[in-house]
Amino acid sequence: MKVKVLGCSGGIGDKLRTTSLLVGDNILIDAGTGAADLSIEQLLKVDHIFVTHSHLDHIACIPLLLDTVIGLRINPVTVHATKDTITALKQHIFNWVIWPDFNEIPSKTQPFLQYHEIVLAQSINLGETTITVLPANHVVPAVGYQINSGSNSLVFSGDTTSCDALWAVVNKIENLKYILIETAFSNGELELAKVSKHFCPSMLADDLDKLTVATEVFITHLKPIDSQVILQEIISSSVNRTCKMLINGQEFTL
Ligand SMILES: [Zn+2]
Ligand SMILES: [Zn+2]
Repeated sequence: MKVKVLGCSGGIGDKLRTTSLLVGDNILIDAGTGAADLSIEQLLKVDHIFVTHSHLDHIACIPLLLDTVIGLRINPVTVHATKDTITALKQHIFNWVIWPDFNEIPSKTQPFLQYHEIVLAQSINLGETTITVLPANHVVPAVGYQINSGSNSLVFSGDTTSCDALWAVVNKIENLKYILIETAFSNGELELAKVSKHFCPSMLADDLDKLTVATEVFITHLKPIDSQVILQEIISSSVNRTCKMLINGQEFTL
């Protein structure tokens, strides 16, 4: 089973895209601007969108994806998210002001969009893939996800700052192969990282000390203007394991 990175930047411009991962051919984890690179044929196959949190860089393409596929699909697209995130999507996006409420058209009984409320530690089985909801610590309610093929697991932190609860769960994943974790800011932006509940390299180093299992670590969500600085700071910091930059278009086999 493959996980393809459609977007992994903290911004846009040039070839940068915001967060989205394609799992197999019918599951998206977040739908930032990276999801816009899918063909219409690929968009039509997306049955499930797992949302980490309500921030725009992670949901920007959900309204437009739905608008593109309506009328071409028989079954609704399912958005899996926590209660808080669903409430935010309903109140601030699908509110008939920013975008139509696809949860009630063409009818409330057969909508184009259906919500599935998820809770921490819940596992959702979709064919050969199991997606488990992980803790995160962000400025709005947020979660991460474990994508488990049965053979291997990939953990995606979503947006988070230091989160002991995340490591407690991750350290128990026996088939863990990859972690994708955010580092949005450079060390010079430590205060901004704290206030917006993201990581900077020094904070990441402290948290990766809590990771006790063997796994490959990939860094995502770098602010474009500081990406080279962040990269250098991670390389030269006291991070106790090798970290690689996540690259757009990268594929993981689980
Ligand atoms: Zn965020
Ligand atoms: Zn973000």
